[in-house]
Amino acid sequence: MAILIEHVDVLDPAAPRSTARDQSIFIESNRIAKVAPAAELNLQSLIINHQPLHVINGRNLLAIPGLISAHTHSPENYMRGATECMPLEPWLVWLYGTCGEYTARDHYLCAAMSAIEMLLSGVTGSLDHLWHGGPWKREYLDATMEAYRDSGIRATVAPMYDDHDYVLDAADALGYDLRGSVYGLSHGGYRPDRDDYRRGVLRDNLAMFDDWMRDWHRSHDGRLQTFLGPAAGQLVTTECLQWSLELARKHGAGVHMHCVETRVQDYCIRRVRGKSVIHWLYDEGLLSPEVTLPHSVWIRSAEDLDRLAERGAIPVHNPAANLKLGSGLMAMREMLDRGITVALGVDGACSSDNQNMFDAIKLAALIHNLKHHDPKTWITAREAFEAGTVGGAAAMLLGGKVGRLQGGQLADIVLLDTRNAVLAPMNDAYGMLVHCETGASVRHVIVNGQVVVRDRKLLTMDVDALVAEFFERADALPFRHPIDLKTQKDVDDCWVFWWKVMDDVSRQFAS
Ligand SMILES: [Zn+2]
Repeated sequence: MAILIEHVDVLDPAAPRSTARDQSIFIESNRIAKVAPAAELNLQSLIINHQPLHVINGRNLLAIPGLISAHTHSPENYMRGATECMPLEPWLVWLYGTCGEYTARDHYLCAAMSAIEMLLSGVTGSLDHLWHGGPWKREYLDATMEAYRDSGIRATVAPMYDDHDYVLDAADALGYDLRGSVYGLSHGGYRPDRDDYRRGVLRDNLAMFDDWMRDWHRSHDGRLQTFLGPAAGQLVTTECLQWSLELARKHGAGVHMHCVETRVQDYCIRRVRGKSVIHWLYDEGLLSPEVTLPHSVWIRSAEDLDRLAERGAIPVHNPAANLKLGSGLMAMREMLDRGITVALGVDGACSSDNQNMFDAIKLAALIHNLKHHDPKTWITAREAFEAGTVGGAAAMLLGGKVGRLQGGQLADIVLLDTRNAVLAPMNDAYGMLVHCETGASVRHVIVNGQVVVRDRKLLTMDVDALVAEFFERADALPFRHPIDLKTQKDVDDCWVFWWKVMDDVSRQFAS
């Protein structure tokens, strides 16, 4: 199947108002074959050689590269809008204390909800850092992949796991016993009281991930990928990360790991390791371009930023979640100035809470103005948009293959209705896309050369039936019911620890 989009305007930074007028885009198989003026590239020039050919009338449409969310957690879709006024640490205790244990069908539904919301709002690619509140089973991973397969979105799934908790070590040293709380829950194992037990679970999980990756990595015409997802810099040993990188490289895949999202994490890692997380990763040779680091909020020193730039690991900015959980502002300008590729993510739906990349892009373009008083250093609309497209492509190890509308790129294209009121009167395209668009103008979406949204309707899934099932299932989960006493005590204990660390940190900053 080939597709010709005729007489369409195309986002182009070199053109007036960043828009090349009256173009055609020709798609063969899963790639963009050519983008050229409609006068040169048209039905007459192609019809002899290409049957069947699907023609899309592009008049009053703007073609943009599909947006890429380089960090989310699909299991949080059940908990959208459920929390407020909580920083990450007590929020995590609440989340894992009340989520219950999902079935494979829950994972399918959660991933489907992500895919539906994303595709209908112009997101064509997503990196899902998949968690499970209990021991991993292969069926959970497969169910998530099956949802993304069925939806038509480009997806990379990285299951979360860990093997040691350095926050608990720091809490011990400060005289707080959190080990019996849900804070001590292992991602992908259960009851992490003993490191040898935890390490055994890790080895079993990595063996299972190896098989899973063999079956799914770059499957479905390359649209689906599998990464490794060590949970966070404060939750893994050097050995765990070395094994993860080894396994990822064996499959040509990446490693996706939360990195100093909060001050508490930064404080605990420095206290136990005696150095920052980036300094540790650098010294151990664990930073490289296939490593993506969601949040990276507390990478602040010039030395650490230089280390990141030297090794080419990719930070993923999640501005909505960082605002909602009060985590802080990533040093995005300082990163861009060093040539660091920055990707953007929506983060999970309990901390963000929608999966709308237009929101993430707009926030990335605006929130750093609060930090820098010199407007020359503010994030431009184009920088924010590119973080949400080419930055995301690099995070998915698809740099140079997706994220731009050029011949040879994979055909992930969103067509926006320029007659929609939110885009009127279509001044500079980057300004309109970043500061005005909400996803409301998304008319058609093409992923990997397939039309998956046509006239605002998702063609691949029965959205009404899935939403109805999702509503029904959510009622059965513990988080919708009064919190149990044990979890409430764990949350309360975590608050006490959190305040202690924040008081210590504030004193350090004040002195
Ligand atoms: Zn996250």
